[in-house]
Amino acid sequence: MKPFKVRLRFHGDLSVFLGSKAGDAVIERRLAEKTSIKDVIESCGVPHPEVDLILVDDHTVGFDHTLTNDTKVEVFPVKNRGTDRTEKQLQIVGIVRFVADGHLRRLTRHLRLLGFDVAYRQNADDRQLLEVMVRENRALLTRDRRLLMHAIVQHGYWPRSQNADEQTIEVVRRFDLSELIAPFTRCLRCNATLEAAAKGDIIALEEAAKADIIGKLEPLTKIYYNQFRRCAGCKQIYWSGSHFPKLQKRIEEIRSRVRGKA
Ligand SMILES: [Zn+2]
Repeated sequence: MKPFKVRLRFHGDLSVFLGSKAGDAVIERRLAEKTSIKDVIESCGVPHPEVDLILVDDHTVGFDHTLTNDTKVEVFPVKNRGTDRTEKQLQIVGIVRFVADGHLRRLTRHLRLLGFDVAYRQNADDRQLLEVMVRENRALLTRDRRLLMHAIVQHGYWPRSQNADEQTIEVVRRFDLSELIAPFTRCLRCNATLEAAAKGDIIALEEAAKADIIGKLEPLTKIYYNQFRRCAGCKQIYWSGSHFPKLQKRIEEIRSRVRGKA
């Protein structure tokens, strides 16, 4: 087979994956055998779940498209296009179930605070993460781009920022989740949903407060009686104490930042 040249231009923030060599986000590859477009794109450092649209000589193609001769390729990231999305796009938005790698503990808690279902185990290895992803039909959140390139991964995201607040906004934008935010509906600790706490739990909590955690419970706790929630999983009790306004403020900040750059 005659060697041929593929010229790839990466659009939007996909340049973060290319390293410093590709200043203008264009990479050329010389190939000597037919190669799938997915493999060529990933050889440039860009994981396939980050790619939403591929144009080969002005035609949209899927990941299985094979390259056999000189070609120009345009590669686009996922952008929140709302209702403008077409079936040509390779990724779907509106995914609400995730599995996060062990480094993303704070992002996990932030997403749970917003009500999103995030499976997380600090010591989970790659195999376990992929297992949960497949079995429970979750999108993979990971800072390990090699893992995101695994052939079994369909949907996933590599948070650009190292800061959990920024990562949260990134994920809400990437998966178009802003309308689905439901704060205080999920346990931050174990990911189970919260239910109204039983009266017995609250009495037990108040007894405990009197006994030895007095000071931790606010004097006004009783006023918020209806806002007691119990985790269906780990039985942790949540109530709107002094931490509540702080959490609400954080949620409002996230909401307004997501809207601000929609
Ligand atoms: Zn729980």
